[in-house]
Amino acid sequence: MPELPEVQTTVNGLNRYVRGLVIKDVWTDYYSEFHVGKPNIKDKKFFRKFRVAVIGKKILSASRRGKNVLIHLSGEQTILVHMKLTGSLLYGTYKKISNENKNKFIHVIFNLSNGKDLALSDLRKFAKVTLVDTDKLEKSPDLKNLGPEPLAPDFTWEKFKERLFKKPNGKIKRVLMDQTIIAGIGNIYSDEILWHISVHPLQKVEKIPPAKIKKMYGAMRKILRYSIKIGGDSESDYRNILGQRGRFQNKTRAYGREGEHCSKPNCRGIIKRIKIASRSAHFCPVHQKKY
Ligand SMILES: [Zn+2]
Repeated sequence: MPELPEVQTTVNGLNRYVRGLVIKDVWTDYYSEFHVGKPNIKDKKFFRKFRVAVIGKKILSASRRGKNVLIHLSGEQTILVHMKLTGSLLYGTYKKISNENKNKFIHVIFNLSNGKDLALSDLRKFAKVTLVDTDKLEKSPDLKNLGPEPLAPDFTWEKFKERLFKKPNGKIKRVLMDQTIIAGIGNIYSDEILWHISVHPLQKVEKIPPAKIKKMYGAMRKILRYSIKIGGDSESDYRNILGQRGRFQNKTRAYGREGEHCSKPNCRGIIKRIKIASRSAHFCPVHQKKY
């Protein structure tokens, strides 16, 4: 699933390529019985209203909150896209669904005023697209419960510690991934952060010493920033808006490295994968010991 660096990479691309363009039309073949009556373009009635609302609107800018892409339009409305497991927003020339070509996973297409399109590719069809009044964004159901942004300038290590200690009995990996505690971190980056600071993913928050939490904060900011710089992680389906892969998957130390030798200098561990609830954690059982 795209996490903070991937979503930020998409947002950076939107600001670079589609800012200032006008939406001429929008098409979708998303439909699900489950979404009937819900504010999601997978509901046909909602999509009809959505289409009327966005046609003729100018894309003013894009931003990110947690793992949500926010596309701000003229007329004080914002398109919210959550890419979920397999979504990627793509800029280029896209035709409606077809099984013969690369477009077969395209489920939404916005036609833009420069003749190009902004499309949403989504293999598993779990993505969410909705429309929110821009001034009500922070109070919207999608955003209101999100914790602070880990890269925000005013998010200090003391605040980070305070957030983690909302769940003192929680296991650190799960707490890092809890969107109500901190927004934007998922499976990949929680594994990487813990590998770097030598903390076991099942370690209880209250047992982690403050000096370690300070280190964790530093590692978190450094790893997230580095991944944004190299375009995020494309081990799975994520692509930037030009359809290109990021490079973070070549830099991971724990995530996706099961069975490989640990790359920490002088560590002789082999990366292990364990299940935590329905997710998995990758870690080195030698240098990431539980205290
Ligand atoms: Zn190790």
